[in-house]
Amino acid sequence: MASIFTKIIEGEIPSYKIYEDDKTYAFLDINPETKGHTLVVPKVEVDKIYELSDEDWGALWASVKKIAAHIEEVTGRRVIMKVIGTDVPHAHVHLMPLDETWEYGRTLKLRDEEFEEIRDKLAF
Ligand code: 5GP
Repeated sequence: MASIFTKIIEGEIPSYKIYEDDKTYAFLDINPETKGHTLVVPKVEVDKIYELSDEDWGALWASVKKIAAHIEEVTGRRVIMKVIGTDVPHAHVHLMPLDETWEYGRTLKLRDEEFEEIRDKLAF
């Protein structure tokens, strides 16, 4: 069965998309630790990030670099990142613009309009 992230990539489940290319897809995390918390996902579905082929690994980290620099440029904030993978068995990297409210693992409740506003600022 397709992972929830594959369903998002294929448009079966909606997402606040930030960026897409032929190998990767990035969208706002629905349980953000900071405003702008983004997940960068390889389109190929593997559970563990180190199961990616060298080519897909390279494509994922190239997108992470590009998107992190873009988020920093837009928000003016240092972007922190983490790889966890305990919840969704489809490899992904978390990117979060660091602000003074951030606490590891503590999530914000945002309204749809807030997600849309953040998406509109960050999408490229
Ligand atoms: P991890 O697997 O790295 O521990 O965490 C998975 C992340 O995916 C969590 O931060 C969770 O909020 C996010 N997530 C899970 N399901 C969805 C979803 O359907 N949409 C979005 N945008 N994020 C999700």
